[in-house]
Amino acid sequence: MVESHAEDDCLFCGIIAGRVPSEKVYEDESLYAFKDVNPKAAVHVLIVPKRHYANVAELAAADPELLASMVIKAQDIADQAFHGAYRLIFNTGKDAGQSVFHVHAHVLTGEVMDE
Ligand code: 5GP
Repeated sequence: MVESHAEDDCLFCGIIAGRVPSEKVYEDESLYAFKDVNPKAAVHVLIVPKRHYANVAELAAADPELLASMVIKAQDIADQAFHGAYRLIFNTGKDAGQSVFHVHAHVLTGEVMDE
């Protein structure tokens, strides 16, 4: 697995850099979080590392602490939005539904989910 840096043709690198507009939820030196443009829950936030990794496995291999910080931030968002209950999804690979190849955690919260 080869780590790569910001990519010109990456949509989420464009959002992080401010070239593409987004509804920011949180930002620090290593993470950026914003509302999903097509929400699948009452609260649907995407958390991305500022550094470009194609998927969660690439990130886990290169920087496990950064991955852990994404999980902690997801918990934080759900603590504020819905008493700490949430789904955390990393679609990995086109056939699993990954459409943007900059790792992102889907945080789905804000409502009771049945299944
Ligand atoms: P994936 O399918 O790769 O797991 O998730 C990509 C997510 O990015 C989708 O849920 C999609 O709605 C969201 N998305 C795609 N383009 C944009 C955009 O330009 N802005 C925002 N805020 N979300 C986007």
